[in-house]
Amino acid sequence: MSSLPMGNTGQEGASIAIAVEGLTKTFHTRRGIPNVVAVEDVSFSVETGSTLGIVGESGSGKSTVARCLLGLTPVDSGAIEVLGRSLVGAPAKQLRSWRSEMQIVFQEPYESLDPRYRVHQAVAEPLLLHTDLRGDVLGRKVLDLLEHVSLQPELARRYPHELSGGQQQRVNIARALATSPKVLVLDEPTASLDVSVQEGVLRLLLALQEEFGLTYVLISHDLTAIRAVCEQVAVMYAGRFVEIGPVDEVLSNPRHPYTEFLIGAELSVDPDVSPLAGIVRGEVATSERPPGCLFAPRCPMRVDQCEEGRPLFESVAPDHVAACLFADRSVDWSD
Ligand code: ADP
Ligand code: MG
Repeated sequence: MSSLPMGNTGQEGASIAIAVEGLTKTFHTRRGIPNVVAVEDVSFSVETGSTLGIVGESGSGKSTVARCLLGLTPVDSGAIEVLGRSLVGAPAKQLRSWRSEMQIVFQEPYESLDPRYRVHQAVAEPLLLHTDLRGDVLGRKVLDLLEHVSLQPELARRYPHELSGGQQQRVNIARALATSPKVLVLDEPTASLDVSVQEGVLRLLLALQEEFGLTYVLISHDLTAIRAVCEQVAVMYAGRFVEIGPVDEVLSNPRHPYTEFLIGAELSVDPDVSPLAGIVRGEVATSERPPGCLFAPRCPMRVDQCEEGRPLFESVAPDHVAACLFADRSVDWSD
């Protein structure tokens, strides 16, 4: 249905760590309640060692993409290749053995930890599960991981509730790193942390990426974080990617009205900053899905043609595509 927004820069020698094509996932709810189309026809690719950001309002399907990527949620259709392996349809046993190479860090650091485990037990757990390390060697590996996430060795004996939110999230990151993964999916990893510690965690993630050559998918509401960490960004609306491209390009020259809205909403509600911020109201619709552009009901640029079918991706700059009839046109907001 859509042309493929593979954000591949086509650079010589760049390898692709994650390739997703036509990913679709509907949740079937109880009878009488409409099904929820969480993800519809999503395609992207991420180069090894780089970061794709995914932004979008709550309910737009970001976490479902994350869970599908890790094989935690079965997909309805589409192809997912991570590190050259095709995940869709792979046997559960195989998925489990691959899982050590791709890990996820969630938004709620405390809920991701078992309250009965001290820090050293929490970090040792994935090592016991996926490696042969035991005894002193295991202990040293745990301390090495704590050092990598800048946690003092004294903290190893603490329980999660004795740590700050930032420290808890560092423990989760250490756990994720324990099995030497190549891909990390970060689902709003700093959203529940104090603003003052968010930057430190982001800096840590950047340093770890550099040291280990990690490939990231970073889901975030925070465009400042996206700008600081990502090479590419995808904007998600009602289960679909509506714009994807190089992060500076997309955030400085947004071509989908929804992207412009997100940027305007974050900068300010001042309509002078983004005319859209003051106009676009309502919520993401996931169960009512008319055939046209899903953003049309909220879009101030809507014309009748928008309702005729999902807009195809228009190429607006190298590697930068937007799914809007007006993507390649400048709009004069002064009218
Ligand atoms: P986001 O992470 O962008 O907030 P999600 O991927 O969590 O979005 O959710 C997308 C949509 O799918 C939402 O409408 C949500 O309620 C629905 N959803 C997510 N997980 C489930 C589930 N397990 N069962 C039913 N609906 C779900
Ligand atoms: Mg989410």
